[in-house]
Amino acid sequence: MMVLQALAAALLLLLLGDFFATFAYHVPEHVFGKFHSIVHHSPNRSFVRYALHHRKPIALVDGFFSAFPYFAFVPWLWQLSPWGTTLGLSLAGLHVIWRHQFSPTYATPEWLQRVCRGLGLSTPERHYIHHCHANLAFGDIFSFFGTPAERWMKWLRWVKVQQRSRRSMAR
Ligand SMILES: [Zn+2]
Ligand SMILES: [Zn+2]
Repeated sequence: MMVLQALAAALLLLLLGDFFATFAYHVPEHVFGKFHSIVHHSPNRSFVRYALHHRKPIALVDGFFSAFPYFAFVPWLWQLSPWGTTLGLSLAGLHVIWRHQFSPTYATPEWLQRVCRGLGLSTPERHYIHHCHANLAFGDIFSFFGTPAERWMKWLRWVKVQQRSRRSMAR
């Protein structure tokens, strides 16, 4: 029972974290935001280094919100299982490091690619597509968030265009 609870807490943390990170942060950032595209999609992805170098502490707010969805559910999941919550956070952190293996010499082994495809997990190869084409390959951890995220993006873009035309009409 303890093990099942721990696994459930870890899985929920990853699912909820990636869901809110994708739909409430990542996609809206690409439509309305600024710093995710400038900082995270650059070769040096550190928000802290960017904020210090460009003297723009406001970029840290952006960095904070990119990680916040993974911590938002910790108080609740902790009650389900502290071990599972810790496991979920560790896996989320390790996946960040792994999915940014963009060196030309890196290649995910064929068997692991197959496992990831079966489980709906994103690989470094897939995440690299997103870093090159910001409209594609959403879902940092889970690839099945990709298609709904692209639709969400189209809709938010439409909202943005509507807002702009309404604003220019008001002028
Ligand atoms: Zn990335
Ligand atoms: Zn992005």
